[in-house]
Amino acid sequence: MPALFGKTLSELTELMQSFGQKPYRARQVWEALYRQRVVSVEDMTTLSQALRERLMTEGWSVELPEIVQTARSVDGTERYLMRMADGETVETVWMPDGDGGERGDGSEAAEEEAAEQVDAEEAVKAGYWDRRGNGRPKSSFGTLAEKGYRRATICISSQVGCAVNCQFCLTAKLGIKRNLTAGEIAGQVAAVLNRHAIQIGKDRINLVFMGMGEPFLNYDEFMQSVRLLVEGIGIPESRMTVSTSGILPGIERFVTEDVRPKLALSLNASNDVVRERVMPITRKWKIAGLLEACNRIPLRTREWVTFEYVLLGGVNDQPEHAREVLDLLKGMRAKVNLIVWNPGPGIDYVQPKPEDVARFQKMLIDGGMPTYIRRPRGRDIYAACGQLKRTVSEEPQLVNLTA
Ligand code: SAH
Ligand code: SF4
Repeated sequence: MPALFGKTLSELTELMQSFGQKPYRARQVWEALYRQRVVSVEDMTTLSQALRERLMTEGWSVELPEIVQTARSVDGTERYLMRMADGETVETVWMPDGDGGERGDGSEAAEEEAAEQVDAEEAVKAGYWDRRGNGRPKSSFGTLAEKGYRRATICISSQVGCAVNCQFCLTAKLGIKRNLTAGEIAGQVAAVLNRHAIQIGKDRINLVFMGMGEPFLNYDEFMQSVRLLVEGIGIPESRMTVSTSGILPGIERFVTEDVRPKLALSLNASNDVVRERVMPITRKWKIAGLLEACNRIPLRTREWVTFEYVLLGGVNDQPEHAREVLDLLKGMRAKVNLIVWNPGPGIDYVQPKPEDVARFQKMLIDGGMPTYIRRPRGRDIYAACGQLKRTVSEEPQLVNLTA
């Protein structure tokens, strides 16, 4: 069935024209899809009954990905198995209160407050907030605040599986099945927002493109999903981060985008020799070239490039590696997110020792590089970084809440 969700305003305009409808009808469909996040054509109550019926008889549906399984962690994280129209599934993760990795020593709190101010102004301008009487928001508290959370982060997938073959990552074991469409990528967000009754403009939602897949190997659909999420759903691009394993041509295109998320690069090693072992894709694109491309990003206020660094016990977590990382990133407006490797079945690495993690972080900070340790989220339900995998057989902890 053809899907409405994922269509741009101009595509909807064409569609409505083909139905002999006025252009403002397209706007109504667009608002229903992205602002109201309706789940069916029937729910598009701004359209006439006749038009809704016509859409349905011609086979049109909204077609948001369906949450078919849910696992909830003790830390509040929820992991969803999302089914697309063709039956393929990916995973999406909901992390109330943020992903923690950003906070580290708490220094980002002030930045967040400032960003919140800007968001609020933008939200009013864009008309996301209910206005009453004097035009002030009806309530400054959203659904998250009512539940006691300050914010939430949604981690979304960009492909079914992944072709990149990083040696420490569970998703790599799947291989690549197919790319997701822009509608399927943004649709994961809409489905999760609906599940939690999130009110954009009041609730603070961050997005990370860090689920299954390599976004820069599905570049056009990924970037189209960003535009749908910004212009349609209403999440500011400054609250989005995309992580890449280092697809150089992708980074080079990304540098030229007007509307784009923040960039995170999975560095994961301090030199090409080690990186090639843990990320064979390094044979194709070396660290120096990747850093050079990152340096060309026109950074906005309050923006820096994040370098993710998965610490693998004995492999890349020693003092000489920390010194090399400092040398690599010297002079860059950057920060480092250390990720303690999350184990998975059939993957032959060991976790770093806690004292090695602490020493690594201290050496980087002492060397002048802001460095955070990303708090593992939802490890008990295999929702943590690099643990997303479609099969359920190896996951006895899975709690099915939707059945
Ligand atoms: N494909 C993109 C985004 C998804 S992976 C990328 O690789 O950047 C998101 C992050 O999780 C990456 O930084 C990756 O290095 C990290 N990661 C992968 N497997 C992991 C594991 N088992 N433990 C901890 N982090 C992992
Ligand atoms: Fe793919 Fe990222 Fe996993 Fe590498 S770490 S295999 S790029 S998902």
